[in-house]
Amino acid sequence: MMRLQLLSLAFGLAVSLTHACAAEKPHYIVQLSLKPAMRELHVRMRVNLPPGAEPRFGLERGFAVKAMTIDGQTVDPAGQTWPLPTGRPVEIVYTAALPGLNAALARGELSPFADPEGSYVPLVHTNSGLAAGAFTYDVTVDVPAGYRAVAPGRLVEEREFEGYSVARFVFEKPVWELSVFAGPYVVGETMHGPLRLRTYFPKTADNSLGDRYRSQVAHYLDVFSAEIGTYPHSEFSVVASPLPVGLGFPTLAYVSQNILPLPFMQERSLAHEVLHAWWGHGVAVDYERGNWSEALTTFMADYALAEESGEAAAREMRHRWLVDFTTLPVGQAKSLKDFVARDHAASQITGYNKGAMLFLMLRDEIGSEAFRAGIQRFWANQKFHVAAWSDLRNAFEAAAGRPLDAFFRQWLDRADAPQFAVQGAERGDNTVDFTLRQSDPPYLLNIPVEIQTISGIERHVVRLDTADGHYLLKSAARITALRIDPDYRLFRRLPIDEVPPTIRSLIAAPNAVTAIADAPTEYKDAGRDIAAGLLEAGCRPDDVTGAMAANAPLLLVGTTLRVTEVLNHAGLPSPPDQLAARGTARVWMAHYHGHIPLLVVEGNDLDALRQTAAAIRHYGAESYLVFDGRKVIDRGVWLPTPRSLQIDFEK
Ligand SMILES: [Zn+2]
Repeated sequence: MMRLQLLSLAFGLAVSLTHACAAEKPHYIVQLSLKPAMRELHVRMRVNLPPGAEPRFGLERGFAVKAMTIDGQTVDPAGQTWPLPTGRPVEIVYTAALPGLNAALARGELSPFADPEGSYVPLVHTNSGLAAGAFTYDVTVDVPAGYRAVAPGRLVEEREFEGYSVARFVFEKPVWELSVFAGPYVVGETMHGPLRLRTYFPKTADNSLGDRYRSQVAHYLDVFSAEIGTYPHSEFSVVASPLPVGLGFPTLAYVSQNILPLPFMQERSLAHEVLHAWWGHGVAVDYERGNWSEALTTFMADYALAEESGEAAAREMRHRWLVDFTTLPVGQAKSLKDFVARDHAASQITGYNKGAMLFLMLRDEIGSEAFRAGIQRFWANQKFHVAAWSDLRNAFEAAAGRPLDAFFRQWLDRADAPQFAVQGAERGDNTVDFTLRQSDPPYLLNIPVEIQTISGIERHVVRLDTADGHYLLKSAARITALRIDPDYRLFRRLPIDEVPPTIRSLIAAPNAVTAIADAPTEYKDAGRDIAAGLLEAGCRPDDVTGAMAANAPLLLVGTTLRVTEVLNHAGLPSPPDQLAARGTARVWMAHYHGHIPLLVVEGNDLDALRQTAAAIRHYGAESYLVFDGRKVIDRGVWLPTPRSLQIDFEK
């Protein structure tokens, strides 16, 4: 599963021997009976551990060993000392009473559960030290008729037998985990050449939904096979979950049944989970040495789809990633090499977004052809192995024919990002002269520079590897503007004029103050309620003059008439024409004194103001909202006008 779970294992068996043939993988033969309504699990597992194998075999919490034999001789499991012997057949029977769906929902992350609505049973679960932990398996699952069960791997048998539905799956390639899923599913199947594509969806789901999923899976498998190397398995299934998850397993995606109909799930998210069959499952991650797989998967699935729909969408995605990083509270940014799994927003910004930008910058640096060759080389060399960032670097160095150590080191090891300023930009006769200064310590950068001339756009790349660099660029025509990285192709901290004002910037401001424009008590109360529900700092009342004297981020609440008077009197921005007189209340962001956030909540009357109180905080990524009563009827982002890195010579 592509999300790290830290689980307490009831017991662990670790075998560590020094025999020579370590290449042989343990092969587990498993018979599993699951009764979802009773939440009962019964498992018989057989293994003959090869010499030299170092399997890490853990059972989930709550599983109990009932019986055990070694060489056919019954042994007392409690008295058995671990590790298990190698070269001798071992059989273990264990049972579990699994938690129900409500308990699993309450945990808020994927954990074992059994329920008539669906079941998830991880059997062999490895989190770390994967290097020697790969194995193969053959699992037969029975569930009462009316349910269907599925495990990753090749389907070799499926039948109804004496009131049970039985299915057997074999995983012949090295794998690092074994999970079984069951539910009251309708199974849909499409053969795509030799590939068996399946959907395990609820009976209530519209039939065409399964068809759409299987054709999307076929499309993504073809695309990624062509780009990376042939999909190495014979099946892929999409399995509905009663939990709010979207996770990739080897040959399988486990997706919340509530989000199955949503377009983003059928497109970006599905592509992402399918690609994990290569990155994360086909080549495994050594979590102790950093997780590269989310970065590469985000770049080759999410970002590639944005690129496919056009440069505007791709640019918007890059800009949003940089905005998210720039507005991350100080101290929360971590280095990419320290990213293990997504556990909060800050880790997503690093592990997914910054990581995807690393691959974009790498492709810009070495060219698409070498990049593609590097990807294919990495796959060919590391397929069914555990790989680290250094293995990726080696593959790209071989493909590009040059060292990339400095490139990888700065983007992996550093938690910060470069920030630029332009100084003394001057234009001469068809020339432009400027100094670029970067934050300290310097990065080694190739910076895209665009020159706008009267006859078109000219693109350059300038090298900056010290604190500042001086450049003189020539053009064929009169130059009208100079733009530094206008398309956001470098991972960098944006200047304030490239960051759209978002409601979130005020929500998170620790020193935000609240001013209420109307004097009567009931208006003051309504304003305080809005502030208390919205600001992390809580309601700190002040007047506008006091707030401005302290340069404090400001929330101004009131009726539109009073708010407009207060804004005009203080020399603050007026309500935007775009929103004038729309709906019953309007919420909008601006800045004052250059960069201090100002959030205005203005309503037609007291009731209109009160009705905004609950909803505003859910729209942190927006710059403005229009309310009709409690309902948000319009929202959007004010696109900034970059000035400090985009210099217009004719204004
Ligand atoms: Zn992922």
